[in-house]
Amino acid sequence: MTELTPPLDALARIVGPENVLSEPDRPNTGMFRTRRIRGVVRPATVDEARQVVATPGAGPLHAISTGRNWGLGSHHAPQDDAVLLDLGRLAAVREIDLTAGWAVVEPGVTQGMLSELLDGTERMVNVTVSAAETSVLGNALDRGSGLRHQRVHDLAGLEVVLPDGELVRVGWWPDREKATPVYPHGLGPSLLQLFVQSSFGVVTAAAIRLLPRPEALRVIRMAFEPDVLDHAADALRRWVHQGLVRGVPKIFDQITSRPYGGDPGKYLVHVCVDGTTESVAALVRVITAEARATGLFSGISHTEATEPAHPNHETAVLVERGYAGDPDVRNTVFEAKTGHAPAEVDEKIGLASFLPLIPFNGKKIALADRLLREVSEQTGVRAATTLHVLDQDVVESVVGLRFDRDDEAGVAAAHRALDLLYQRFTAAGFIPYRLDVDHADWRERLHTDPAATALTRRLKNFLDPDGTIVHGRYH
Ligand SMILES: Cc1cc2nc3c(=O)[nH]c(=O)nc-3n(C[C@H](O)[C@H](O)[C@H](O)COP(=O)(O)OP(=O)(O)OC[C@H]3O[C@@H](n4cnc5c(N)ncnc54)[C@H](O)[C@@H]3O)c2cc1C
Repeated sequence: MTELTPPLDALARIVGPENVLSEPDRPNTGMFRTRRIRGVVRPATVDEARQVVATPGAGPLHAISTGRNWGLGSHHAPQDDAVLLDLGRLAAVREIDLTAGWAVVEPGVTQGMLSELLDGTERMVNVTVSAAETSVLGNALDRGSGLRHQRVHDLAGLEVVLPDGELVRVGWWPDREKATPVYPHGLGPSLLQLFVQSSFGVVTAAAIRLLPRPEALRVIRMAFEPDVLDHAADALRRWVHQGLVRGVPKIFDQITSRPYGGDPGKYLVHVCVDGTTESVAALVRVITAEARATGLFSGISHTEATEPAHPNHETAVLVERGYAGDPDVRNTVFEAKTGHAPAEVDEKIGLASFLPLIPFNGKKIALADRLLREVSEQTGVRAATTLHVLDQDVVESVVGLRFDRDDEAGVAAAHRALDLLYQRFTAAGFIPYRLDVDHADWRERLHTDPAATALTRRLKNFLDPDGTIVHGRYH
């Protein structure tokens, strides 16, 4: 075994030499500039994580949970020479209370693990459509989006190691003596959000809210022609505003609809309804009639998941199960989309993501779609989008730029397209809510009040004067 140089040798005494790797870099699916890393440290307990953070000279540390932030830089921090603090070995579901609706999970707990534990119970976890092996906590800390809502709304409390090694619990945390209602805000200033998209601490556990499992659930599918996107989005907006739908309705374009069995050349909509058997039947009737009355939609259907003979049956079942908290533990849809198993993504796929927010109105959504097509035509890069309706006013556009990792010119074109997307979308007011490692400077460029940026920096300097934790993508 090669000799470990300081501070890795000191860290090896804490976590064991087999849990310190001195690899200089690792591939990432976005093919963003490969960051030099000084090493990887894998603590197994909270106490080991605290000792690592408190070791003089250990920083700057970049914490990851499972490091599968694909499309945004995977495990990388924007800075070079960080030590990767891989918390994947902290993988305990410490406690679950199904009646009160919470679970305390560590960073290595994946959505597949948690959903399997909850299978058949009255509660479910809000899952994403990423791989089953992705972290519930890591994704929530980056404000990832689940099928029910943005994951950040699932955070009730956080256990955090501060840069000086102190352990604090912010937000709501279970009380051993008596049950208290799960209320993340507490009294006084809410500290929980300080540690989301943040470089103020290393999170070692989260109290996650578990959602009531619906008694019945259906996903209604419908297609429409690309040139009526604005009207179709406005119809969907009305259903959302009138409380007809649950979870995150989605609009897939001609490319992203393919793995879901979409009609060639058309956009595809998924609308989830849930509740009791009777309320679901009624909502299916209402939405189906509404959709027909608009004259915009074709192929309106809610039975693919219940008709075993339907060619799209298997996928339709998986889509409905996703809305019901099952993240497709065999990654069937994930692999259909990416062509690869999760373990191969960082080495074999070329994918960069851009995640802007669009106001939820038809005209703005059509404009965002036009901007995307223009960038695609200008650069020759395949750009595809899925629109996620996050709430009554905000839609997330998940833009994926696919490229061939072995084609140098193709990689450069994809990165040029990504730059253009940042420029064109933000000029139209469509600001990203997550940044990739190569665009961390956009946090400052997009901040409307420089005093607010300065305040964040003052807090960082106060909490972390020695730079123990990397500045990260949102400094
Ligand atoms: C086909 C496909 C589908 C996808 N679908 C979705 C989707 O539906 N929704 C979605 O949101 N994303 C999606 N993604 C993107 C990505 O895979 C997920 O967001 C994934 O959950 C992020 O990786 P992770 O869970 O391993 O988190 P990590 O990479 O471990 O963490 C994410 C970031 O959070 C911070 N962080 C993590 N842990 C800690 C900690 N303990 N302390 C302090 N900071 C920490 C770090 O900055 C880190 O970079 C998809 C990707 C692909 C390829």
